[in-house]
Amino acid sequence: MSLLDEGVVAIAEAVRSGRAKAAEVVEESLSRIGAGDGELHCFHTVMTEEARRQAAEVDAAVAAGRDPGPLAGVPVALKDNLCTKGTLTTCSSKILEDWVPPYDATVVERLAAAGAVAVGKTNLDEFAMGSSTENSAFGPTRNPWDTTRVPGGSSGGSAAAVAAGFVPLALGSDTGGSIRQPASLCGVVGVKPTYGLVSRYGLIAFASSLDQIGTFALTVRDAAIGLEVIAGHDGRDSTSLDREAPELVPSLSGGVEGLRIGVIEDFVADVSASAQAATTAAAEALASAGAKVEATSVPEVLHGLPAYYVIAPAEASSNLARYDGVRYGLRVDGPDVATMNARTRGAGFGPEVRRRIMIGTYALSAGYYDAYYGQAQRVRTLVVRAFERAYRDFDVLIAPVTPSEAFRLGEKTANPLEMYLSDVCAVPSNLAGHPAVSVPFALGEAGLPVGVQVLAPALGEPLMLRVAAALEAAAPAGVRGPVRPGGTREAGRA
Ligand code: GLN
Repeated sequence: MSLLDEGVVAIAEAVRSGRAKAAEVVEESLSRIGAGDGELHCFHTVMTEEARRQAAEVDAAVAAGRDPGPLAGVPVALKDNLCTKGTLTTCSSKILEDWVPPYDATVVERLAAAGAVAVGKTNLDEFAMGSSTENSAFGPTRNPWDTTRVPGGSSGGSAAAVAAGFVPLALGSDTGGSIRQPASLCGVVGVKPTYGLVSRYGLIAFASSLDQIGTFALTVRDAAIGLEVIAGHDGRDSTSLDREAPELVPSLSGGVEGLRIGVIEDFVADVSASAQAATTAAAEALASAGAKVEATSVPEVLHGLPAYYVIAPAEASSNLARYDGVRYGLRVDGPDVATMNARTRGAGFGPEVRRRIMIGTYALSAGYYDAYYGQAQRVRTLVVRAFERAYRDFDVLIAPVTPSEAFRLGEKTANPLEMYLSDVCAVPSNLAGHPAVSVPFALGEAGLPVGVQVLAPALGEPLMLRVAAALEAAAPAGVRGPVRPGGTREAGRA
């Protein structure tokens, strides 16, 4: 088995000790991308030269007796809404097609400072709006388990890049499920941290009260190490929590003995038979590992979806006002400024982004504000209170991640509402600002991966990931990547 398949910890240990060269690991990642990404389209930009240079720096540090850090030589993929100095950052939008940021996002700086090597920028739904990566202006990503199907979204490129074994670690953003839903559909681990735990400086904003950056990896441990590196206070993000990054890895092996775990039955009723079966099996596995597991009803969470689809577009309509043909990216000229603005935005934004801007602008307009935006905020408070109540009785909650397995390309594009329903189990955690993780736990009817979600109260990451690690240990063989495109499993992986 190649070192690249052994994951983040093994790569970093080998590179730090001088047993392997970052340059070789990165070269293998680049060559896998070169061979396989034509079919999958995980990447918009492959950072070949920069990656080689970064890898050489890591190797030089080791040779000089310096420690490059906990991610030494680990190839990482970055969702293309994270700013990279000198490298295109498109958000999968024509409006930013040629935009090259003059600075790095904080998470990009932190990964580099820990010795990781960025190999490329991954495909997403335009401005992270979508659940299938089909809203990308540059074509969809395909699911490596079955290339006729979507990888989920909006961070579909990052999830598929990990699932295909191109990289052992990737970053995504999760505003309403965009890390957890593609993680579930691609058979990888995806963590959405507590709001404020990871700096969003340099993340292109979608809905600022909901956006969080998080990690994808093949294992809970690898995702946790990535999160340790990117988390922690940053003065450049005013929503950043003023506290140190939590230690996550030491507690992963703590087990679940005596923990009180609630199964959110309101969600279970709402999903496919395979997602139901996966959640039930996960509950049983945790109970046999010593947890006290009980079904619980948190009915308010079902109102999260409509509230989200008012709040997120409202915030998006305000955030996306900055694409006016003057400050960033595309300009389509006109005889006066208003016409130039309108032509630029009409040509630069795709249909889903335009739909969200219109919904959001309407929800915020005088006369409708209270009926839509105000009402959605009140529902958000109900969701927060419902979770508060649930966490009096339970340490963590578990739930399905998505209603179904990976669907076929084109299956839901004609009906935006059906696409929105993919997010029903995911958005309440964003509304509450809580962490949640998707862990591969089963294969569904079509032989495709199905994840289970572990939810925790704010800053509950250590316990949440401990439960996720226990689930991972109990999961049947064959439920996670890497897979070669078309579903063939990599040799040597259970
Ligand atoms: N699918 C959701 C949406 O379309 C979530 C997106 C996200 O988390 N970025 O808004």
